[in-house]
Amino acid sequence: MTVTVRNQCCPNKKCVYAGQFLRGNVISHSRKSPRFLCKACGKTWVAHREEPRYHLHTDFQKVIEVLKFLSGGASVRGTARNMGVSTSTVQRWKTRFADYSLT
Ligand SMILES: [Zn+2]
Repeated sequence: MTVTVRNQCCPNKKCVYAGQFLRGNVISHSRKSPRFLCKACGKTWVAHREEPRYHLHTDFQKVIEVLKFLSGGASVRGTARNMGVSTSTVQRWKTRFADYSLT
């Protein structure tokens, strides 16, 4: 399935366009990654119709573990040590999946 603005809706529950498609509020935020921006509330998110894992070389489960550490309040350095990856890798994942929901 192709990720386009057509199959994205704003994930911000407080937004007037929450859960609504094709309202013209969603624009593509970046050509390099499947990020979208809601013009109505300013929320940005990673495409949520397709898992944002397709150009990752690492097992996505590892990314999830890293995100769990970070969301639990662990430092980038500490997470990197625990997971056996470099701090720059953790930092990159943290940025890339900033809006990715673990639930
Ligand atoms: Zn919105």
